Amino acid sequence: MTRRELPPVPERLPAPTVDSHTHLDACGATTPELVRAALDRASAAGVAAVVTVADDLASARWVVEACAWDERLYGAVALHPTRTKDFSGEDRAELERLVAAERVVAVGETGLDYYWDYSPPSAQQEAFRWHIDLAKRAGKPLMIHDREAHDDVLAILESEGAPETVVFHCFSGDADVARRCVDAGYVLSFAGTVTFRNAHALREAATLVPDEQLLVETDAPFLTPHPFRGRPNEPYCAAYTVAGLAELRNQPVKAVAEAARRNAERVFGLRSGDAEETG
Ligand SMILES: [Zn+2]
Repeated sequence: MTRRELPPVPERLPAPTVDSHTHLDACGATTPELVRAALDRASAAGVAAVVTVADDLASARWVVEACAWDERLYGAVALHPTRTKDFSGEDRAELERLVAAERVVAVGETGLDYYWDYSPPSAQQEAFRWHIDLAKRAGKPLMIHDREAHDDVLAILESEGAPETVVFHCFSGDADVARRCVDAGYVLSFAGTVTFRNAHALREAATLVPDEQLLVETDAPFLTPHPFRGRPNEPYCAAYTVAGLAELRNQPVKAVAEAARRNAERVFGLRSGDAEETG
């Protein structure tokens, strides 16, 4: 076995769940056949629906096309904060058109990234404000990327006025940031990082999020959950993160899987509830 091999598909979760944020194209699943195969692996693990997220215009076009290929797949479109340096009027017009697609269920991922240096903070902030306004006009949830920018993300949301539904994708704050998000009514989505044994502050944060404000995601192909850290990630690996969160929150695996599915259905308007109960 090599380190780059996909982790094994785990036993099916005791109740279906949803991977609320992934990048199927970046996982290499770019054709209808490969998308179906990835979603079949997800279904086998109890991950009944998947939201695949664009980070640039080419990816956004692909997301809208791919969502028509399989009823288990939904999409989100936006320009990633690291790519906002030359955010043109043409890009904005195209995103406005793409976000209106029926199976696009969120504006994302947008926000601020102060870790990478690809786009200056001023350009990121301007683009973030534009996406906040777009989410409001489109009536769709805002899916936030926040890397080392918690205070500015929260301040801009407050000054612009947050859309009705705000999701912090791959939540990365500590207990204090989590409390501020929970109090504001935001939804916190946890990725494989929450299963990393040395992520003490994040793991503490995950214990204080109410069931109703919790989502689970993979952010595949990155952030593969423990004990497969460093291997490629795919939507089925959300099942490992559900199990990790259950242990952390001292809840049954079934309860966490169901909460994440219920919340994804409510937040994104998914119909994964049609998926049969798995016992
Ligand atoms: Zn992502």
